[in-house]
Amino acid sequence: MDKINIDLSIIGLGAASYAAALYAVRYQIPTLMIGEDFGGETATGGLIENYPGVPEIDGYDLMLNMKQQVENYNIKTINENALSIEKKDASFLIKCSEKTTIESKSIILGIGRERRKLNLENEEELTGKGVSYCSTCDAPLYKDKITAVVGGGNAAIEGALLLSKYSTEVYLIYRGNKIYRPEPVLLRHLDESKNINILLNTKISKIIGNNESGLKSIETENGNKTKNINIDGLFIEIGADPRLKIPNQLGLKINPTTNEVHVNNLMETNIEGIFAAGDLTDASGNLKQTVTAAGQGAISALSAYNYLSQIQK
Ligand SMILES: Cc1cc2nc3c(=O)[nH]c(=O)nc-3n(C[C@H](O)[C@H](O)[C@H](O)COP(=O)(O)OP(=O)(O)OC[C@H]3O[C@@H](n4cnc5c(N)ncnc54)[C@H](O)[C@@H]3O)c2cc1C
Repeated sequence: MDKINIDLSIIGLGAASYAAALYAVRYQIPTLMIGEDFGGETATGGLIENYPGVPEIDGYDLMLNMKQQVENYNIKTINENALSIEKKDASFLIKCSEKTTIESKSIILGIGRERRKLNLENEEELTGKGVSYCSTCDAPLYKDKITAVVGGGNAAIEGALLLSKYSTEVYLIYRGNKIYRPEPVLLRHLDESKNINILLNTKISKIIGNNESGLKSIETENGNKTKNINIDGLFIEIGADPRLKIPNQLGLKINPTTNEVHVNNLMETNIEGIFAAGDLTDASGNLKQTVTAAGQGAISALSAYNYLSQIQK
Protein backbone atom coordinates (compact mmCIF):
# COMPACT_ATOMS: atom_id res chain seq x y z
CA MET A 1 0.00 0.00 0.00
CA ASP A 2 1.40 3.42 -1.02
CA LYS A 3 1.38 6.10 1.65
CA ILE A 4 1.89 9.75 0.76
CA ASN A 5 2.19 12.85 2.96
CA ILE A 6 1.28 16.15 1.36
CA ASP A 7 0.20 19.70 2.26
CA LEU A 8 -2.77 19.97 -0.11
CA SER A 9 -4.89 17.35 -1.89
CA ILE A 10 -7.27 18.47 -4.62
CA ILE A 11 -9.95 15.90 -5.22
CA GLY A 12 -11.49 15.81 -8.71
CA LEU A 13 -10.18 16.52 -12.20
CA GLY A 14 -12.73 19.08 -13.40
CA ALA A 15 -12.53 22.85 -13.95
CA ALA A 16 -12.75 23.75 -10.25
CA SER A 17 -9.94 21.34 -9.42
CA TYR A 18 -7.58 22.35 -12.24
CA ALA A 19 -8.04 26.05 -11.48
CA ALA A 20 -7.38 25.32 -7.80
CA ALA A 21 -4.30 23.31 -8.78
CA LEU A 22 -2.95 26.09 -11.01
CA TYR A 23 -3.18 28.64 -8.21
CA ALA A 24 -1.88 26.18 -5.60
CA VAL A 25 1.27 25.31 -7.55
CA ARG A 26 1.91 28.97 -8.24
CA TYR A 27 1.67 29.59 -4.47
CA GLN A 28 4.26 26.77 -4.28
CA ILE A 29 2.10 24.57 -2.09
CA PRO A 30 3.16 20.90 -2.28
CA THR A 31 0.01 19.67 -4.02
CA LEU A 32 -1.48 16.39 -5.18
CA MET A 33 -4.45 15.92 -7.52
CA ILE A 34 -6.65 12.88 -7.03
CA GLY A 35 -9.12 11.49 -9.58
CA GLU A 36 -9.79 8.66 -11.98
CA ASP A 37 -11.80 10.50 -14.67
CA PHE A 38 -10.18 13.40 -16.45
CA GLY A 39 -12.00 16.63 -17.26
CA GLY A 40 -15.33 16.42 -15.44
CA GLU A 41 -18.54 17.63 -17.07
CA THR A 42 -16.74 20.25 -19.14
CA ALA A 43 -14.81 17.55 -20.96
CA THR A 44 -17.93 15.62 -21.92
CA GLY A 45 -20.31 18.53 -22.48
CA GLY A 46 -19.38 19.22 -26.12
CA LEU A 47 -18.73 22.67 -27.52
CA ILE A 48 -18.02 25.53 -25.07
CA GLU A 49 -18.77 29.01 -26.38
CA ASN A 50 -18.96 30.99 -23.15
CA TYR A 51 -15.56 30.61 -21.52
CA PRO A 52 -14.13 34.15 -21.56
CA GLY A 53 -11.24 34.62 -23.95
CA VAL A 54 -11.98 31.39 -25.80
CA PRO A 55 -14.71 32.02 -28.39
CA GLU A 56 -15.26 28.37 -29.26
CA ILE A 57 -13.59 25.20 -28.05
CA ASP A 58 -14.49 21.57 -27.49
CA GLY A 59 -14.84 21.10 -23.72
CA TYR A 60 -12.38 18.23 -23.80
CA ASP A 61 -9.71 20.45 -25.37
CA LEU A 62 -10.38 23.23 -22.87
CA MET A 63 -9.79 20.76 -20.04
CA LEU A 64 -6.69 19.43 -21.76
CA ASN A 65 -5.36 23.02 -21.89
CA MET A 66 -6.06 23.41 -18.16
CA LYS A 67 -4.30 20.12 -17.42
CA GLN A 68 -1.24 21.01 -19.52
CA GLN A 69 -1.02 24.46 -17.95
CA VAL A 70 -0.98 22.87 -14.48
CA GLU A 71 1.51 20.20 -15.48
CA ASN A 72 4.03 22.88 -16.44
CA TYR A 73 4.53 23.10 -12.68
CA ASN A 74 5.56 20.51 -10.17
CA ILE A 75 2.43 18.51 -9.41
CA LYS A 76 1.61 14.84 -9.02
CA THR A 77 -1.70 13.20 -9.90
CA ILE A 78 -2.98 9.98 -8.37
CA ASN A 79 -5.32 8.44 -10.95
CA GLU A 80 -7.64 6.91 -8.42
CA ASN A 81 -10.90 8.11 -6.95
CA ALA A 82 -11.06 9.05 -3.30
CA LEU A 83 -13.20 6.50 -1.49
CA SER A 84 -13.17 7.87 2.02
CA ILE A 85 -11.70 10.70 4.03
CA GLU A 86 -11.37 10.90 7.79
CA LYS A 87 -9.81 13.40 10.13
CA LYS A 88 -6.58 12.20 11.77
CA ASP A 89 -5.08 14.54 14.38
CA ALA A 90 -4.28 17.79 12.55
CA SER A 91 -4.50 16.14 9.09
CA PHE A 92 -6.89 14.15 6.93
CA LEU A 93 -6.50 10.55 5.81
CA ILE A 94 -7.68 9.97 2.24
CA LYS A 95 -8.17 6.37 1.08
CA CYS A 96 -8.27 5.82 -2.68
CA SER A 97 -9.76 3.13 -4.90
CA GLU A 98 -6.45 1.38 -5.69
CA LYS A 99 -5.50 1.40 -2.03
CA THR A 100 -3.23 4.45 -2.03
CA THR A 101 -3.49 6.31 1.27
CA ILE A 102 -2.72 9.99 1.54
CA GLU A 103 -2.19 12.01 4.66
CA SER A 104 -2.97 15.61 3.77
CA LYS A 105 -2.87 18.79 5.82
CA SER A 106 -5.64 20.36 3.77
CA ILE A 107 -8.12 19.39 1.06
CA ILE A 108 -9.99 21.09 -1.76
CA LEU A 109 -13.07 19.14 -2.85
CA GLY A 110 -14.06 19.68 -6.51
CA ILE A 111 -16.08 16.53 -7.07
CA GLY A 112 -19.08 18.12 -8.77
CA ARG A 113 -22.52 16.63 -9.31
CA GLU A 114 -24.10 13.56 -10.77
CA ARG A 115 -26.67 14.47 -13.48
CA ARG A 116 -29.98 12.66 -13.15
CA LYS A 117 -30.50 10.55 -16.23
CA LEU A 118 -33.47 9.07 -18.00
CA ASN A 119 -31.52 5.80 -18.14
CA LEU A 120 -32.65 5.02 -21.68
CA GLU A 121 -30.74 3.14 -24.33
CA ASN A 122 -28.53 5.48 -26.48
CA GLU A 123 -28.65 8.24 -23.85
CA GLU A 124 -24.99 7.92 -22.95
CA GLU A 125 -23.79 7.30 -26.50
CA LEU A 126 -25.58 10.40 -27.79
CA THR A 127 -24.53 12.74 -24.98
CA GLY A 128 -22.79 15.63 -26.73
CA LYS A 129 -24.28 14.42 -30.04
CA GLY A 130 -27.80 15.76 -29.60
CA VAL A 131 -28.42 14.80 -25.99
CA SER A 132 -27.48 17.47 -23.44
CA TYR A 133 -27.99 18.05 -19.72
CA CYS A 134 -27.43 21.79 -19.85
CA SER A 135 -29.60 24.14 -21.90
CA THR A 136 -27.80 27.24 -20.58
CA CYS A 137 -24.67 25.83 -22.16
CA ASP A 138 -25.86 24.29 -25.40
CA ALA A 139 -29.02 26.15 -26.52
CA PRO A 140 -27.18 28.36 -29.06
CA LEU A 141 -25.99 25.23 -30.88
CA TYR A 142 -29.60 24.56 -31.92
CA LYS A 143 -30.34 27.63 -33.99
CA ASP A 144 -33.13 26.89 -36.49
CA LYS A 145 -33.42 23.31 -35.23
CA ILE A 146 -36.12 21.35 -33.44
CA THR A 147 -35.48 20.60 -29.79
CA ALA A 148 -37.15 19.01 -26.79
CA VAL A 149 -36.69 19.54 -23.06
CA VAL A 150 -37.62 16.86 -20.53
CA GLY A 151 -38.62 17.95 -17.05
CA GLY A 152 -41.27 19.89 -15.21
CA GLY A 153 -39.34 22.19 -12.86
CA ASN A 154 -37.95 25.68 -13.28
CA ALA A 155 -34.75 24.46 -14.92
CA ALA A 156 -36.78 22.72 -17.63
CA ILE A 157 -38.99 25.77 -18.23
CA GLU A 158 -36.00 28.11 -18.32
CA GLY A 159 -34.37 25.69 -20.74
CA ALA A 160 -37.42 25.62 -23.01
CA LEU A 161 -37.70 29.43 -22.95
CA LEU A 162 -34.05 29.84 -23.79
CA LEU A 163 -34.25 27.25 -26.56
CA SER A 164 -37.33 28.96 -28.00
CA LYS A 165 -35.07 31.92 -28.86
CA TYR A 166 -32.91 29.73 -31.07
CA SER A 167 -34.92 26.73 -32.20
CA THR A 168 -37.82 26.84 -34.63
CA GLU A 169 -39.85 24.52 -32.42
CA VAL A 170 -39.43 23.31 -28.84
CA TYR A 171 -41.24 20.47 -27.07
CA LEU A 172 -41.48 20.64 -23.29
CA ILE A 173 -42.14 17.08 -22.16
CA TYR A 174 -43.22 16.26 -18.64
CA ARG A 175 -44.65 13.11 -17.16
CA GLY A 176 -46.82 14.96 -14.60
CA ASN A 177 -50.20 16.52 -15.29
CA LYS A 178 -49.06 20.07 -14.54
CA ILE A 179 -45.81 22.00 -14.42
CA TYR A 180 -44.21 21.55 -10.99
CA ARG A 181 -44.35 24.69 -8.78
CA PRO A 182 -43.26 27.10 -11.54
CA GLU A 183 -42.10 30.64 -10.90
CA PRO A 184 -45.07 32.78 -12.03
CA VAL A 185 -42.95 34.90 -14.34
CA LEU A 186 -41.70 31.78 -16.11
CA LEU A 187 -45.22 30.50 -16.53
CA ARG A 188 -46.25 33.80 -18.09
CA HIS A 189 -43.35 33.65 -20.55
CA LEU A 190 -44.29 30.08 -21.33
CA ASP A 191 -47.89 31.10 -22.06
CA GLU A 192 -46.69 33.93 -24.30
CA SER A 193 -44.27 31.79 -26.24
CA LYS A 194 -45.28 30.94 -29.81
CA ASN A 195 -43.04 27.96 -30.47
CA ILE A 196 -43.13 25.84 -27.30
CA ASN A 197 -45.41 22.80 -27.38
CA ILE A 198 -46.12 21.48 -23.88
CA LEU A 199 -46.69 17.73 -23.72
CA LEU A 200 -47.98 16.78 -20.24
CA ASN A 201 -48.58 13.24 -18.95
CA THR A 202 -45.93 12.23 -21.44
CA LYS A 203 -42.69 10.36 -21.02
CA ILE A 204 -39.88 9.56 -23.38
CA SER A 205 -39.65 5.84 -24.08
CA LYS A 206 -36.88 5.79 -26.71
CA ILE A 207 -34.00 7.95 -27.85
CA ILE A 208 -33.29 7.20 -31.50
CA GLY A 209 -30.00 7.80 -33.32
CA ASN A 210 -26.47 6.51 -33.35
CA ASN A 211 -22.90 7.59 -32.91
CA GLU A 212 -22.54 8.61 -36.55
CA SER A 213 -25.91 10.22 -37.30
CA GLY A 214 -26.31 11.77 -33.85
CA LEU A 215 -29.78 12.16 -32.37
CA LYS A 216 -32.61 11.67 -34.88
CA SER A 217 -35.85 11.41 -32.94
CA ILE A 218 -37.57 10.37 -29.74
CA GLU A 219 -40.49 8.10 -29.05
CA THR A 220 -42.96 9.43 -26.50
CA GLU A 221 -45.68 7.65 -24.55
CA ASN A 222 -48.90 9.23 -23.35
CA GLY A 223 -51.07 6.54 -21.76
CA ASN A 224 -51.11 3.80 -24.37
CA LYS A 225 -50.41 6.17 -27.27
CA THR A 226 -46.89 6.28 -28.66
CA LYS A 227 -45.55 8.93 -31.01
CA ASN A 228 -42.30 9.50 -32.88
CA ILE A 229 -41.00 13.10 -32.90
CA ASN A 230 -38.07 14.15 -35.06
CA ILE A 231 -35.74 16.39 -33.08
CA ASP A 232 -32.15 17.61 -33.31
CA GLY A 233 -31.57 18.26 -29.62
CA LEU A 234 -32.87 16.65 -26.45
CA PHE A 235 -32.25 18.48 -23.18
CA ILE A 236 -32.63 16.40 -20.05
CA GLU A 237 -33.33 18.87 -17.24
CA ILE A 238 -34.48 16.62 -14.43
CA GLY A 239 -31.92 17.75 -11.90
CA ALA A 240 -28.46 16.85 -10.64
CA ASP A 241 -27.31 15.60 -7.29
CA PRO A 242 -24.13 16.90 -5.61
CA ARG A 243 -21.77 14.02 -4.72
CA LEU A 244 -22.27 14.08 -0.97
CA LYS A 245 -20.83 10.75 0.17
CA ILE A 246 -17.42 12.20 1.11
CA PRO A 247 -18.81 15.51 2.43
CA ASN A 248 -21.16 13.53 4.67
CA GLN A 249 -18.31 11.30 5.90
CA LEU A 250 -16.45 14.44 6.90
CA GLY A 251 -19.48 16.06 8.52
CA LEU A 252 -19.47 19.05 6.16
CA LYS A 253 -22.40 21.41 6.49
CA ILE A 254 -24.93 20.90 3.70
CA ASN A 255 -27.14 23.76 2.54
CA PRO A 256 -30.63 22.51 3.52
CA THR A 257 -32.33 24.29 0.61
CA THR A 258 -30.05 23.24 -2.23
CA ASN A 259 -28.52 20.06 -0.79
CA GLU A 260 -25.07 21.36 -1.79
CA VAL A 261 -21.93 21.69 0.33
CA HIS A 262 -22.15 25.02 2.08
CA VAL A 263 -19.13 27.32 1.64
CA ASN A 264 -18.53 30.95 2.51
CA ASN A 265 -17.14 33.42 -0.02
CA LEU A 266 -13.60 32.13 0.65
CA MET A 267 -14.73 28.60 -0.28
CA GLU A 268 -14.20 27.52 3.33
CA THR A 269 -16.44 24.74 4.63
CA ASN A 270 -17.39 24.40 8.30
CA ILE A 271 -14.32 22.18 8.86
CA GLU A 272 -10.97 23.93 9.08
CA GLY A 273 -8.58 22.76 6.39
CA ILE A 274 -11.35 21.56 4.05
CA PHE A 275 -12.33 23.80 1.16
CA ALA A 276 -14.79 23.12 -1.64
CA ALA A 277 -15.38 24.65 -5.07
CA GLY A 278 -17.49 24.30 -8.18
CA ASP A 279 -20.77 22.51 -8.78
CA LEU A 280 -20.55 20.57 -5.53
CA THR A 281 -21.13 23.77 -3.58
CA ASP A 282 -23.76 26.43 -3.03
CA ALA A 283 -21.30 29.16 -4.11
CA SER A 284 -22.77 30.07 -7.49
CA GLY A 285 -26.51 29.54 -7.10
CA ASN A 286 -28.03 28.45 -10.37
CA LEU A 287 -25.10 29.47 -12.54
CA LYS A 288 -23.17 26.22 -12.49
CA GLN A 289 -20.66 26.76 -15.27
CA THR A 290 -17.03 26.11 -16.11
CA VAL A 291 -16.12 29.74 -15.54
CA THR A 292 -17.76 29.92 -12.09
CA ALA A 293 -16.22 26.58 -11.06
CA ALA A 294 -12.78 27.78 -12.17
CA GLY A 295 -13.17 31.08 -10.30
CA GLN A 296 -14.14 29.29 -7.12
CA GLY A 297 -11.25 26.86 -7.57
CA ALA A 298 -8.83 29.80 -7.69
CA ILE A 299 -10.31 31.31 -4.51
CA SER A 300 -10.16 27.95 -2.71
CA ALA A 301 -6.43 27.67 -3.45
CA LEU A 302 -5.72 31.07 -1.90
CA SER A 303 -7.74 30.05 1.16
CA ALA A 304 -5.79 26.79 1.43
CA TYR A 305 -2.54 28.75 1.11
CA ASN A 306 -3.58 31.10 3.93
CA TYR A 307 -4.68 28.16 6.08
CA LEU A 308 -1.39 26.27 5.56
CA SER A 309 0.67 29.40 6.25
CA GLN A 310 -1.21 29.89 9.50
CA ILE A 311 -0.84 26.28 10.79
CA GLN A 312 2.82 26.11 9.78
CA LYS A 313 3.81 29.28 11.66
C1 LIG B 1 -23.79 18.56 -21.12
C2 LIG B 1 -23.17 19.71 -20.39
C3 LIG B 1 -22.77 20.81 -21.13
C4 LIG B 1 -22.20 21.89 -20.48
N1 LIG B 1 -21.80 22.97 -21.23
C5 LIG B 1 -21.26 24.04 -20.59
C6 LIG B 1 -20.88 25.19 -21.36
O1 LIG B 1 -21.09 25.26 -22.57
N2 LIG B 1 -20.29 26.21 -20.68
C7 LIG B 1 -20.08 26.19 -19.33
O2 LIG B 1 -19.51 27.13 -18.79
N3 LIG B 1 -20.47 25.13 -18.58
C8 LIG B 1 -21.05 24.06 -19.18
N4 LIG B 1 -21.49 23.00 -18.44
C9 LIG B 1 -21.36 23.06 -16.98
C10 LIG B 1 -19.90 22.76 -16.56
O3 LIG B 1 -19.46 21.62 -17.25
C11 LIG B 1 -19.83 22.53 -15.05
O4 LIG B 1 -20.35 23.66 -14.39
C12 LIG B 1 -18.38 22.32 -14.61
O5 LIG B 1 -17.86 21.17 -15.24
C13 LIG B 1 -18.27 22.16 -13.10
O6 LIG B 1 -16.94 21.88 -12.79
P1 LIG B 1 -16.55 21.14 -11.44
O7 LIG B 1 -15.07 21.03 -11.46
O8 LIG B 1 -17.22 21.78 -10.30
O9 LIG B 1 -17.23 19.69 -11.54
P2 LIG B 1 -17.08 18.56 -12.65
O10 LIG B 1 -16.75 19.08 -13.97
O11 LIG B 1 -18.32 17.74 -12.51
O12 LIG B 1 -15.83 17.69 -12.16
C14 LIG B 1 -15.91 16.85 -11.06
C15 LIG B 1 -14.68 15.95 -11.05
O13 LIG B 1 -14.64 15.22 -9.82
C16 LIG B 1 -14.37 13.87 -10.12
N5 LIG B 1 -14.80 13.03 -9.00
C17 LIG B 1 -16.05 12.74 -8.59
N6 LIG B 1 -16.02 11.94 -7.50
C18 LIG B 1 -14.70 11.76 -7.21
C19 LIG B 1 -13.99 11.03 -6.19
N7 LIG B 1 -14.64 10.36 -5.25
N8 LIG B 1 -12.65 11.05 -6.20
C20 LIG B 1 -11.96 11.75 -7.14
N9 LIG B 1 -12.57 12.44 -8.13
C21 LIG B 1 -13.93 12.45 -8.16
C22 LIG B 1 -15.07 13.64 -11.44
O14 LIG B 1 -14.62 12.46 -12.07
C23 LIG B 1 -14.67 14.92 -12.16
O15 LIG B 1 -13.36 14.80 -12.67
C24 LIG B 1 -22.04 21.88 -19.06
C25 LIG B 1 -22.46 20.77 -18.33
C26 LIG B 1 -23.03 19.70 -18.98
C27 LIG B 1 -23.47 18.51 -18.18
